Parts: sequence; C-alpha cells; structure tokens
Amino acid sequence: MKTDKCDVVVVGFGNAAQAAAYSAHGAGAKVVVLEKAPERKRGGNTWFSSGAQFRHAHDGLADEKPLLPHISDDEFEKIDLDPYTKDDFYSDMMRVTRGKAVPELVELLVNESHPTVEWMRGAGIQWEILYTGSVPEGDRFRWHHGQSFIHSKDGGAGLVRMWQRILEDSGVEIRFDTAAVRLTIDDKGGIGGIVTQDSEGLMEIQCNGVVLACGGFQANPAMRRQFLGEGWDLGKVRGTKFNTGDGIQMALDIGAQPFGHWGGTHTTPIDANAGEYEAGFLDPANLRNRTHRYAWSLGIMVNAEGLRFIDEGEDFHAYTYAKTGAEIVKQTGSVAYQIFDAKVEEAVNRHRYHGAIPIVADTIRELAEMLEINADVLAGTVDRFNDAVREDRPFDEAIRDGRATEGIYPPKSNWCQKIDTPPFTSYAVAGGLTFTYGGLRVDTNCQVINKQDRPIGGLFAAGELTGGFFYYNYPSGSGLMRGAVTGRIGGRNAAG
Ligand SMILES: Cc1cc2nc3c(=O)[nH]c(=O)nc-3n(C[C@H](O)[C@H](O)[C@H](O)COP(=O)(O)OP(=O)(O)OC[C@H]3O[C@@H](n4cnc5c(N)ncnc54)[C@H](O)[C@@H]3O)c2cc1C
Repeated sequence: MKTDKCDVVVVGFGNAAQAAAYSAHGAGAKVVVLEKAPERKRGGNTWFSSGAQFRHAHDGLADEKPLLPHISDDEFEKIDLDPYTKDDFYSDMMRVTRGKAVPELVELLVNESHPTVEWMRGAGIQWEILYTGSVPEGDRFRWHHGQSFIHSKDGGAGLVRMWQRILEDSGVEIRFDTAAVRLTIDDKGGIGGIVTQDSEGLMEIQCNGVVLACGGFQANPAMRRQFLGEGWDLGKVRGTKFNTGDGIQMALDIGAQPFGHWGGTHTTPIDANAGEYEAGFLDPANLRNRTHRYAWSLGIMVNAEGLRFIDEGEDFHAYTYAKTGAEIVKQTGSVAYQIFDAKVEEAVNRHRYHGAIPIVADTIRELAEMLEINADVLAGTVDRFNDAVREDRPFDEAIRDGRATEGIYPPKSNWCQKIDTPPFTSYAVAGGLTFTYGGLRVDTNCQVINKQDRPIGGLFAAGELTGGFFYYNYPSGSGLMRGAVTGRIGGRNAAG
C-alpha cells in the first residue's frame, strides 16, 4: 500500500471538518482533509443547510454588531432583538432534549458559541442577518426569543465556498473523491494513521491526530433500519447521500464507545414531492425550490385519516420542527396535510413554500375530496377544532400567545384561529430526515472516548457524529454551531 505522512487528517468536508482543519492548521499542524464526495458534491449536509442559521448566545444587538460590520446603523435601528443569554441557550437545550443532553457538552456548546462565531468572522466567514426568521411589524423587525439572528452569507453552499477559499488560501490540502476507510492504531491503542481510498486504490496516511467529522448514518438505509426501526429504511433524506456512518463505524472498530440517542433523529416536515436524497430541494439543481414546510402552527395538520395527531402550537417551530417530521413518518403512508385558511395566507407565504403545489378549495368537504380523505371525518375534525378555539387572547405570531384550544385532544397550545375563511389551502408533507443523533462519545476536548471510558490517543470527533448533544429533539441552528464549536476545539487539540 502507498503511504504518506502529515500531522493531522481531517475526515469530511462539511462545516465541522472545515472548522477543524482551519483550527489544526492555525495550531501549526500540517493538515490533510479527506472528502469522500467528488468536488462538485462536496460539503455534506452543510451545503444543504439553506438557512445556515447559527444559534449562539448573545447579549443583544450590541453584541451582534461586530459580527456584521457591513450593516449600517440605520438598518440596525429597525431591529428589535432581545438578548439570548447562555442560560437561555442552556435551558432550551435541556428542555427540548428532556434533560438527557450531557451537561458538560451542552455547556461547551453554549459557552463556546459566541467566541466561535467571532472566530469564524475572523477567519473570513461573512455573516448576514436572518430576516426570514423575523416577524415584520411595519418597517421594524422582531425576532422571537431564541430564533437565530444570523446566518452565513449565501446559505450552506456559501459557507462551504467561504471555508474552501479560506483553507486553500491557508495552504491546507483537500483530497476530493477520497474516502477514509479504516483507522490504524499504534501499540498503545492510539491513532497511528488512516487508510484512504480513491480511484487509484488504498493509501495509508501516517499521522498523529485524526478528526472524524464525516457525519451521521442518515444516508445508510441498513443502519437506519437497524437503529431507527421499521419503516425508516424507506425515508427521505434532506441532505447528502455521503453520510453513511463511516466515521462512527471506523471508530467503533477500534474500541470507541457508542453514545447518545441512537434511535433519535432530526426529521422535519418537508414537501411530500421531495426525492429520496438531497430532499432539502425539490430539484437540487435548482436551489430556488426548498422543501421545508414549517408554517403548520398557523393552521392544523391532519393525517390521511383526516385526524389531527400533534399539538401544532406546542412551541415556535424552531423548537418543534426537528421532532415533528418523525411524527409524520409514523402516520399512514408517512404523509400528512397542513391545512390553512385565507386569514393566514400572508403569514404562510412568509415561510416560503417555494415550488409547493397547494390544493385549494372553497369548502373543507371539497378539500377533503381533493385530498382523498373521508369528508365527514375531516369536516368533523375542523368543526371540533373551531369549537375548541379560545378567542379571549389576541393572536400574535412573535410570542407564545397562549391562544389555545380547550377540551380537545390533541390540544393546540398557541396561535389558534378558527379555520373558517375560504379559500382553504392544503399542502402534503412528509418527514425529511436531516441527521441522526447517535454517535461517538467525546469529552470536552472533543477527544473520542473508548469503552473503558478513556480517551483514545490522537482521535477526535466533530459535528454530526458526536453523540450526547441531542436527544428526542433539537433547537434550530444548533447543528452548524455544534459542528463549528467541536471542529474548532477538536482540530486545535488534534494538532497537539
Ligand atoms: C436541508 C438542511 C438544512 C439545514 N439547515 C440548518 C441550519 O440552518 N442550521 C443548522 O445549524 N443546521 C442545519 N442543518 C443541519 C446541518 O447541516 C448539519 O448539522 C451540519 O451541516 C453537520 O455538519 P458536519 O460537518 O458534521 O457534517 P456534514 O456537513 O454533513 O459533512 C460531512 C462530510 O463528511 C464526508 N464524508 C462522509 N463519509 C466520509 C468518508 N468515509 N471519508 C471522507 N469523507 C466522508 C461527506 O461527504 C461530507 O463532506 C440542515 C441540514 C439540512 C440537510
């Protein structure tokens, strides 16, 4: 086998790997980056992160301004942004993960979030204001508490391009179309190198450190069936087809400890017409038509039987969207229908249902027939919902308005309005699998832990394949933030 040498090998070429490579290089290491995908398909799920939101702790606008030096004071004047403190971020993480997330890992994510977006800005990543996450009020913009405020310029594709330029300008070597296939260990059980495979065959790169940043197992139907259960092998994957659990498997093969919520996924409501892979877009060659369908809290969602099955107003979609897709997967045919009336048309439009094919009708019965749902059942569902809506509070999208239902199950806890104003519009949605939660155990140095609870010498992990951060659910914008934080720390420590 051919051999090669460097200090640190970074596996993957998404945001976590890119941060790791930049960080290891900055710490003085000679770094080689391996990307399994060909260059035109590079960037993993990061490339698909159309919103490219980065949830991070901040003390309000004054804290955010230095991240956005190209934004004028006049523009900032129109923005109302409450602080999102470390305590807020920490408690959101713990609340949505039902207290299961590992406190030290959550503290790491939270405490390092703002320093890391600053570090990325220093590296050359350009931030923009996430206006699509705001609620406009006249000429002012409000962000609900906890909604991410910034995104990287030109979304995930822009982020990958910016990181690539930064790494190439730094002289970091990137090998596209080259997969990591096996880790090699030294006498002490630590990393000795890594075996790679490209069109020419196998090569061993001897190195002191490896950062595994090559994603979860969401694009591996066999692992999905094994760890997520019945029906998941047939799902729709929102992102790259290259995240097939390779890094997790390679590490387990040398004694790493499996960790986290192996049966848990980030799965969101997406257009039912999306494809099997790259389903974040209706057509990945046309980036205009994104498939996220996140306006359901403005109406109701029913299954093919015409029945509601979740609390559509449980919380802002930022805190529920990642678990709602899995509820859709459980329904007959793994499909559901979001139903809105004319009152909320403008608000639904703000959610950018690009390329969606709405079914529109003047009556609920007519809508049911078009959706091939039993009309008596759907009309009954809508009547019961309308009768249960409490109208004693004003409707306000920007806060948890407490405008709830009374006396029905499942309840709808916020943003209730009667569905009574034609035309009625429905969108068919499926569950789109973003990434898996289970992975490798890491400590706060992002070093991989073995089955005897000891760190594996020279082995680090970053991004999607780290277990212990997310269980059951996930607050929006935390995946890229986790990748950047763990990549930055893992890369620096891998450099020694
Ligand atoms: C449609 C969509 C929208 C999203 N929006 C957001 C958002 O707004 N905010 C947010 O925080 N998160 C978002 N996410 C989630 C986010 O994309 C991921 O959490 C994050 O990108 C994961 O980064 P990563 O670097 O760990 O993995 P990835 O970006 O997936 O990178 C993994 C890399 O590893 C490579 N690889 C795999 N196997 C091998 C191997 N054997 N050898 C070499 N390379 C290999 C892959 O090709 C890829 O380059 C979104 C995801 C999707 C799909």
